[in-house]
Amino acid sequence: TSFGFKQVQEDEKSKLVGNVFSTVASSYDLMNDLMSTGLHRLWKDRLVSMLHPFAGMKHLDVAGGTGDAAFRVLESINSVSNKALQEGLADTKQETKIFVCDINPNMLNVGKMRAIERGFGEDRSLHWVEGDAEALSFADGSMDGYTIAFGIRNVTHIEKALSEAYRVLKRGGRFLCLELSHVELPVFKQIYDYYSFSIIPAMGELVAGDRASYQYLVESIHRFPNQTDDAGWSHKRKDLLWNIAEHSGSASKKSEINND
Ligand code: SAM
Repeated sequence: TSFGFKQVQEDEKSKLVGNVFSTVASSYDLMNDLMSTGLHRLWKDRLVSMLHPFAGMKHLDVAGGTGDAAFRVLESINSVSNKALQEGLADTKQETKIFVCDINPNMLNVGKMRAIERGFGEDRSLHWVEGDAEALSFADGSMDGYTIAFGIRNVTHIEKALSEAYRVLKRGGRFLCLELSHVELPVFKQIYDYYSFSIIPAMGELVAGDRASYQYLVESIHRFPNQTDDAGWSHKRKDLLWNIAEHSGSASKKSEINND
């Protein structure tokens, strides 16, 4: 049946995503730098600055992989709260909790090692949780922030991930999603497509010894809905994003989504 076929496709997608990130885990950071020419660092910095982290916050970074976004959130909170402490303005009663949730234990293990290297090994704010974006283990209304960076396109049912984000966020909490999209400018698009489909898989083979995983990565970006195409962007998803935007108390976000 078509349902049976869909089920197989979905099971295969989850398995494939699992395999991809198990193989790429150790070379993941180097490849990110090479593929984006370091730009992913600036994008993640911007994501965190838009989050406006604060001491005592409960934050969830889903598909958090090797902890990149979570470390930035923590660094931002530490710098702000150190300043507030010096000025006698810090509320030290609230415990900061930053959860890194990822479906792949290998990515989490690399993240834990990186935390030690970065001097966060003893930091009690960081919590590593193996889990699925589609079925989070966190309580309703428990998070001030939710981020997902380069993760949502890997999730099998995006609607489920969005409704889980909505469920775990507190009223007024912030939802931020960082994702690669499509290039529209004609000449730049050709260069970008050539770079994506030819150079990135070759780089994957050369640096990580794994062409297939990087081929998957490129294809998953290509398949992800573009900025304007409504065909791949179901009304259900749009409604959920509206709900999240309203929940986060952002009217401008709602109009951005509407204009998407
Ligand atoms: N957020 C990190 C970053 O920006 O560097 C990692 C992004 S990496 C491209 C995608 C991550 O999504 C992988 O670590 C993978 O294991 C994770 N992932 C894929 N499907 C997931 C799911 N359903 N739930 C949670 N994590 C998932």
